[in-house]
Amino acid sequence: MTPPPLVLDDVLLTYPDGDRRLTALDRVSLAVPAGEFTAVAGPSGSGKSSLLAVAATLLRPDTGRVVIAGRETAGLSPRALTSLRREAVGIVFQQSNLLPSLTAVEQLLAVEHLRGGSPRAARARAGELLERVGLDAAKWRRRPHQLSGGERQRVNIARALFPGPAVLLADEPTSALDHECGERVVDLLASVTREHRTATVLVTHDRALLARADRVLLMRDGVLSAG
Ligand code: ADP
Ligand code: MG
Repeated sequence: MTPPPLVLDDVLLTYPDGDRRLTALDRVSLAVPAGEFTAVAGPSGSGKSSLLAVAATLLRPDTGRVVIAGRETAGLSPRALTSLRREAVGIVFQQSNLLPSLTAVEQLLAVEHLRGGSPRAARARAGELLERVGLDAAKWRRRPHQLSGGERQRVNIARALFPGPAVLLADEPTSALDHECGERVVDLLASVTREHRTATVLVTHDRALLARADRVLLMRDGVLSAG
């Protein structure tokens, strides 16, 4: 059996807090298999973004293991970690962090440009993904300010999927959207999880969005527990 694409084992994460340390993740363990959509709910300040930052290898835990796509991350150099993150982890943030000067299709191609693949194949893949996330072809050449909030998040999801990541992480991706639009974005995350077999984690403080998840976990004061 292949290991789950995302494994956190007994992760402790603290931040400096005056002359003490604040415990943001208190011995958190989590394994997400390929094709599973896990949601983590919890109030503001409970540690949800910290959890995703550690899962994305953007933050190193104080102690504990993080294994991405079968690779132990602890011993990796910053450069090796960056390349693992690029190929194996798709990240969708709260505010769509698209580049203001690029069109929708260029947002995806910018990543490929960094990786040096074939432009023709990259264009074809970008088109397929934008179509899959439901962005009308007429809007592929629009820049972020010419798209709605929901459309921007769709582009964000397409961009996150572009490298074919094993892990897909979404941090409150619906918080800037109205409820119905937010639900459709979560539906999309659920269906791309099945199709692309990603190990997906959505964190949200909005409990109304949890119905689409295969599994719901709760975060409270840095402690992760079954929902
Ligand atoms: P959530 O995403 O659930 O709102 P966070 O993971 O952002 O929670 O924060 C968890 C706790 O860690 C909070 O008490 C927050 O104030 C604290 N925290 C988050 N980031 C930092 C940081 N860079 N430095 C110090 N404390 C932080
Ligand atoms: Mg947060």
